[in-house]
Amino acid sequence: MERFDIAIIGTGPAGLEAAITAKVRNKTVLLLGNKGSSDKVSKAHTIQNYLGLPNVSGEDMSKAFLAHATSMGIEITEDKVNAVYSMGKYFAIQCHSGDYEASSVIVAAGMTTMKPFPGEMEFLGRGVSYCATCDAALYKGKTAIIIAYSAADEEEAEFLAERAQKVYYLPQYEYAGNLGGNIEVTCDVKPDSIAYTEGRAYLATDKDTYTADGIFILREQIAPSQLVPGLQMDGNHIGVDRSMATNIKGLFACGDITGAPYQYIKAAGEGNVAALSAVSYLNELKKATE
Ligand SMILES: Cc1cc2nc3c(=O)[nH]c(=O)nc-3n(C[C@H](O)[C@H](O)[C@H](O)COP(=O)(O)OP(=O)(O)OC[C@H]3O[C@@H](n4cnc5c(N)ncnc54)[C@H](O)[C@@H]3O)c2cc1C
Repeated sequence: MERFDIAIIGTGPAGLEAAITAKVRNKTVLLLGNKGSSDKVSKAHTIQNYLGLPNVSGEDMSKAFLAHATSMGIEITEDKVNAVYSMGKYFAIQCHSGDYEASSVIVAAGMTTMKPFPGEMEFLGRGVSYCATCDAALYKGKTAIIIAYSAADEEEAEFLAERAQKVYYLPQYEYAGNLGGNIEVTCDVKPDSIAYTEGRAYLATDKDTYTADGIFILREQIAPSQLVPGLQMDGNHIGVDRSMATNIKGLFACGDITGAPYQYIKAAGEGNVAALSAVSYLNELKKATE
């Protein structure tokens, strides 16, 4: 398996700037995220405070960011990262569509305002999962509940339904009615809490309680402490020093995920610092193994 110098999670301003800086410093980069950058960029109405781009629309700023990255030969690998594991001298990165390796990692995954459901963290890995594609094989002939946040999750539901006996699909977005067969869709249901006992998962909602062999929560973002086991948090944010280093050697973080102010220029600036720090780390690593 190819081992990249730097894996970057997130394609908002922080991740894109980190990728550009890493590329300028001749490092191999794996940039994971959304090919369209970040919704927080493209959906902003007018931006007044980004240096060199006065009164720019979010859509135009997003295009400018992506064009800059593309012009430098940077490609975005469209995938969602489920977990990052430190293996000592490298990192194993587990994604929806496959696994990757990198010598260092920069987490630029933005800030999530969503709180985990009561019981979610307790039963994660034991009845609760974030990736239906990854775990589908375990659901042959079984039942599953999917809490979905975007139409893109419908593909995952279909994949799971090919193996599972029945899938309960609870869309938390405007559902257009595309699913059928053994997928039972119920709209306008708000999940409340999760429990798992004697091999059965229970989802309490504002209406009924659903039960199945497992529950999949397909949020776009995963809590940082779940994304990287052992990561030291500072409240809701990843704890970093001025070089954007976390408590895990070789792992850096930047942008909204490290704390306020939530601003494009701060995110991009931290992306630059994180990439330079990752480059210094790689140099140290190389010296230590020579
Ligand atoms: C409507 C709106 C208007 C705003 N206007 C302004 C403004 O005028 N000026 C200003 O300075 N700031 C503004 N902001 C704030 C600004 O959007 C954020 O500060 C900035 O986008 C943060 O950049 P980021 O790269 O840290 O994170 P984000 O832009 O949130 O990007 C994170 C990226 O990581 C991806 N990601 C997350 N988890 C994973 C995963 N597990 N695997 C793969 N990819 C993942 C996400 O899909 C996303 O693409 C605005 C925000 C909003 C919502």
